[in-house]
Amino acid sequence: MFDKVLIANRGEIALRIQRACKELGIATVAVHSTADADAMHVRLADESVCIGPPTSSDSYLNIPRLLAACEITGADAVHPGYGFLSENARFAEILEEHNITFIGPTSEHIRIMGDKIEAKETAKRLGIPVVPGSDGAVKTETEAMKVAKGMGFPVLIKATAGGGGRGMKVATSAEDLPMAFSTARSEAKAAFGNDSVYIEKYLTKPRHIEIQVFGDGQGNAVHLGERDCSLQRRHQKVFEEAPSPAINAAARARIGETVAKAMQTIKYRGAGTVEFLYEDGEFYFIEMNTRIQVEHPVTEAITGIDLVLEQIRVASGAGLSFRQEDIQFSGHAIECRINAENPRTFRPSPGQITYWHPPGGLGIRVDSGAYQGYRIPPYYDSLIGKLIVHGKTRNECMMRLKRALSEFVIDGIETTIPLFHELVRHPDVVNGMYDIHWLEKYLGKS
Ligand code: ADP
Repeated sequence: MFDKVLIANRGEIALRIQRACKELGIATVAVHSTADADAMHVRLADESVCIGPPTSSDSYLNIPRLLAACEITGADAVHPGYGFLSENARFAEILEEHNITFIGPTSEHIRIMGDKIEAKETAKRLGIPVVPGSDGAVKTETEAMKVAKGMGFPVLIKATAGGGGRGMKVATSAEDLPMAFSTARSEAKAAFGNDSVYIEKYLTKPRHIEIQVFGDGQGNAVHLGERDCSLQRRHQKVFEEAPSPAINAAARARIGETVAKAMQTIKYRGAGTVEFLYEDGEFYFIEMNTRIQVEHPVTEAITGIDLVLEQIRVASGAGLSFRQEDIQFSGHAIECRINAENPRTFRPSPGQITYWHPPGGLGIRVDSGAYQGYRIPPYYDSLIGKLIVHGKTRNECMMRLKRALSEFVIDGIETTIPLFHELVRHPDVVNGMYDIHWLEKYLGKS
């Protein structure tokens, strides 16, 4: 096992990783920008290193500075969390070159899955069903038109290097296509420095259902069921639940086994999520994330398995601590992402939290780095916490969530909590009757 883990992240996920390390008796190193000197992940770590100014490229994304922090503190492993460098194959490779363990999959797997075209081709080869689309990248408008007409409108133009819902444009008709094609390319160029795009059939009423997987890197791999993340805004998740209200045990076993088998074939190591769109009883692969995800706690709630602790164990060379038959699903869990944003316009609302009162009681978990008096810096993602609720049934979970939301008080800034108050009272959400377009339609109407 490792002696000291450096956590190359901030906010709630940095704290989450620290907790797992502490339970394993591993010393922790926090890194932080000058804007995060007072952050909870810094206060609670055994050691901390300031790695630069607020701008992410000069701090949390700066590989030489992170390496220097490892050398200074003598950390023998790095956990990247999510976002920042978590899916940067070069970072994983450089760490290995310096004999520091990257807590995650091999750099080769990160690279393959980071290129969405290669990821789709790999998935297809492994017997995973994919969304119908272009054969690889589409380079010109003429080619795009040909592919789109062949497939039928609407189509979705997506960035090969995509992430966070950026560089994605819908074309509903041939007239729309030229504009959508050039906008997607320029957005992709601006966001990822790479204007390569591909085309997919645009599904009009799918749910987003993803499968959590875990491998030991030796050919053993299991699935831990699904999460339904269909409530989205601008292709970003807002509310997630497990199990999905839309699939039954047979469908879960079918897709879960397909994915677990694929992970066994490629000898996948660590935690991963294989994302699908689900429409009319069929699953269509869209991408794989080779890291821990924001919404991992809903899976932890229904399986009782600590996914971050398992990531660390597996990276240290220990085998998986569970087999497929050991994984039992119990009850229902829902996560609400609490963002420092206006609940209608979603404009970020950084500033000082003047009052902070999180909910409590049976089945409630709040993962957050925030506290009373904390000043949210304007430089980073606006996620300030996650409320995760577990109940014996979906109905109990929903009632408990309603109760927990009514206890949650955050003053001084705007948050997305008022939106969740509305959502948990809406019949479609209560009944689990929503697809990936539901939330945008709801927001457009209200
Ligand atoms: P990113 O990596 O940017 O998050 P994804 O490929 O994971 O991109 O897609 C993000 C979201 O965009 C999905 O959850 C879904 O809501 C929407 N989306 C992606 N592909 C399609 C598609 N072919 N049809 C309809 N919606 C899609």
